[in-house]
Amino acid sequence: MADTTEPVVAQAPWERLYELEHRIYAAVPPIDPPGCHWLNEDAGTSYCWECARKAAWKSLGRAGEPPAEPDWWDRSEDEKLIRDKIDGPSSGESDSGEACHTCRRTLSHLLSGTGVDEELGHFAQCPIEDYHGIDGEQSYVLSRIFMNLTGPWADAKRVDEAILLAEAALSAIAVQKPPAIQFD
Ligand SMILES: [Zn+2]
Repeated sequence: MADTTEPVVAQAPWERLYELEHRIYAAVPPIDPPGCHWLNEDAGTSYCWECARKAAWKSLGRAGEPPAEPDWWDRSEDEKLIRDKIDGPSSGESDSGEACHTCRRTLSHLLSGTGVDEELGHFAQCPIEDYHGIDGEQSYVLSRIFMNLTGPWADAKRVDEAILLAEAALSAIAVQKPPAIQFD
């Protein structure tokens, strides 16, 4: 009798993770977050561009809101002072997730190995199953972890933890919108 079953091809754990992460992105597309800025006098505090301008204005000793941002070709003295104080956007790796200090929105970032451990630790403490669904922002946060782990170089223990996290995320998504999601 002919055996019609597919031959079992061993899938590396990181390949499984790659498959799972793309199911997450297909169901909940990650946001494309704004860049991470900081004041040159304090590189430890991250801001979105709008909040960085406000923080720079305050740091200049000015009261109230900064003036409205002019067109790019139109630079007032105040705008020059504001921009001289702001660095970024960052293109480096960080040791934790990046969110704006003021408005808490997620900012564009890459994670270092330490950052991956920190984020995995965060999700171990606050299981994603307890979230009320997953939004594009959380999908982006997950993508930062997974992108460090989807290759043969990845640490096996971290990959295993990330697979559990990805499976939990997919379960949470399935509960969130049951009719729309079909995982082959
Ligand atoms: Zn902000």
